[in-house]
Formats: sequence, structure tokens, C-alpha cells
Amino acid sequence: MPSNYPGFKYSTDRETFSAAKAKALESLLIEKGIITGDTVNKILSYFETEMGPFNGAKIVAKAWVDPDFKKLLLADCNAACEQMDFPEGMSGAEGEHMRIVENTPEVHNVIVCTLCSCYPWPTLGLPPYWFKDPTFRARVAREPRQVLSEFGVQLDKSVQIKVWDSSAQIRWWVLPMRPTGTEGMNEAQLARLLTPEAMMGVATVKA
Ligand code: FE
Repeated sequence: MPSNYPGFKYSTDRETFSAAKAKALESLLIEKGIITGDTVNKILSYFETEMGPFNGAKIVAKAWVDPDFKKLLLADCNAACEQMDFPEGMSGAEGEHMRIVENTPEVHNVIVCTLCSCYPWPTLGLPPYWFKDPTFRARVAREPRQVLSEFGVQLDKSVQIKVWDSSAQIRWWVLPMRPTGTEGMNEAQLARLLTPEAMMGVATVKA
């Protein structure tokens, strides 16, 4: 993820500073024998191969082609996840209480954690830096339409924007609208159109 997402600016000094702080913390934890260098690598590789936005993409694609699954997904996200062939622990690890909200021509949803960085890890992976940065957290709550336009999402004034604030209790994510021109596509093809940003509500899906 580039430090400055196209059009959306925050202080890159802060990202460098935060990275240095995380590095210092990691070194201390290793020095004190609480974790090993391997622990961090193992966790990172798990999120690269097992839990990431590719899971969310499969779920959304299935919801686009299967109305019953979509109904279940909107009513009980974790129950819908359990129907998928996902790795063990899929509904654990920061994903015990996930909820998905549907974009429609009338309503556009965007997610944030105004307090810190709560995020649906099993379906979207680890959050990008800008999601955790105070600039995004404060501004998307205060002026979501402006922030979305900086991300390249220009919404008509008639479209209502809903901002969903995640917490340790509920982790929100977004079911984007299926783009027109995808009628002949199968689930695997549809899944390839999805990006983490679209499932966070800061992008739309392009055919
Ligand atoms: Fe949080």
C-alpha cells in the first residue's frame, strides 16, 4: 500500500515514526524472550496466505450470485463465513463479531475505527497504515463525502453516506455493488474484481 493513497494525504513522517516505534517494540519483545523473530514472520505469512482480502472477495462474489447466501451474509456474517471453505480459526482472530453492510444506489457505506484500528482481519487481512492514521479516522467521521472524493469516489448528492465505526465488539465491512457488464461472469471472475478498498467503502468495483 503506498503511503499516500491516491488523492488522500496524511503526514508520511508519522508513518515512518510509527514504523520505528513498532520496530523498537519488536526488538524489546525479542530481547526479553517474549516472542522470537520467527513469531512475527509466521504471523505475517499467515496473513499473506490464509487470511486476507482474497477471503472477503470470495464471500462478496458468492453473495452477488447467490441471493440466499447474501441474505444470510447480511443477517449473520460469521454464519455465512462458516459455510465457506476457509481455514481453521476464520471466525476467530479479530473476526468474532463481523458485520457487513450493503451498498445500494441510494446508500454508500464506509468503515472506520475512530478509536484505534479495529478491522475484520479474516475477510480483509491487516489494515493499511492510512486506516490507522488519526487523519483518516477523524476526517472520515467529520467529512466523509470529501474524504471519499479524495479517494476517487465521487458520489451524487442524493446518495446517503453511512460511516460505520468498528470496535472490539463489532467489525464492519462493506458489500459493494456488483458492476454492470458482469452478468456473464462466474464467482471466480467476480472475486478478481474486488479490492480491499472496495470492501472498506473507499472505492467502487470496476468491471
Ligand atoms: Fe480499533
